[in-house]
Amino acid sequence: MAFVSMTHLLKEAQKNSYAVGQFNINGLIWAQAILRTAERLKSPVIIASSDRIVDYLGGFRTIVKMIDSLMKEMEITVPVVLHLDHGQTVERCMAAVDAGYSSVMYDGSHLPIEENIRNTKKVAEYAHAKFVSVEAEVGSVGGMEDGLVGGIKYADLNECVRLVKETGIDALAAALGSVHGKYQGEPVLGFDEMQAISRAVGIPLVLHGASGIPLEQLKRAIAYGHAKININTECNLAWREALQKTLEENPAIFEPRALLLPSIAAMEDIVAEKITEFGAVNRALQRVK
Ligand code: 13P
Repeated sequence: MAFVSMTHLLKEAQKNSYAVGQFNINGLIWAQAILRTAERLKSPVIIASSDRIVDYLGGFRTIVKMIDSLMKEMEITVPVVLHLDHGQTVERCMAAVDAGYSSVMYDGSHLPIEENIRNTKKVAEYAHAKFVSVEAEVGSVGGMEDGLVGGIKYADLNECVRLVKETGIDALAAALGSVHGKYQGEPVLGFDEMQAISRAVGIPLVLHGASGIPLEQLKRAIAYGHAKININTECNLAWREALQKTLEENPAIFEPRALLLPSIAAMEDIVAEKITEFGAVNRALQRVK
């Protein structure tokens, strides 16, 4: 079964007050673990490749074929979105669409709003003609992601409204205090701004930098319009900690499979925990293989 766009999934999620998890991959066994967990929990899932590591992963076409083949081998029945996270240019988003991604994020959040709107519109027109969903961002999610460091800048309500109305995007990442990577202290999200933006734009919101945000705040974010929540760092940290433990406890092991299986199991536990926290268990609409 082909990948699905996230448009319908996110509308359903927003209507029923849960969120679909986006989990970033770092290779084949990561994708396998995410698919296995989503299938076990009967949850829709968004598998994402961050644009910055697409080449490391083998390129757009390799990623599409890899996930597609895994879904067939694993007889996956839950809806799966293959999404480009933080697409860096209009051309990169188009290349992902051409390769077979079912969803793309164009990240023009660092640009002046006019340019962000102009580029996002180009991506949306191209993607929508192929039934591919589009996410875009206003404001700046702080912190570090795949080697890139940035500061927090709250999304401006008027800019959010303009971006959504003038481009026809399907989901909006409105940065409101979250950061990629590890938080220094307790995360504080701008819930008043969130409510106002959600009401004004009328489309599902996307929470970036959700690793480390306490459950109570995640629940509030879902109640205030977030239907997609992105998790990367918590999976990476669980993977790393398990690898360190395996190495320390088994100094003689050198087979990669034996070294990495505990790490994969650890990140799989995080995926299951998040899907459960987001309220997405049993939300997959059964579909024909
Ligand atoms: P974290 O770094 O908090 O996991 O955020 C992931 C993310 O937002 C990917 O776009």
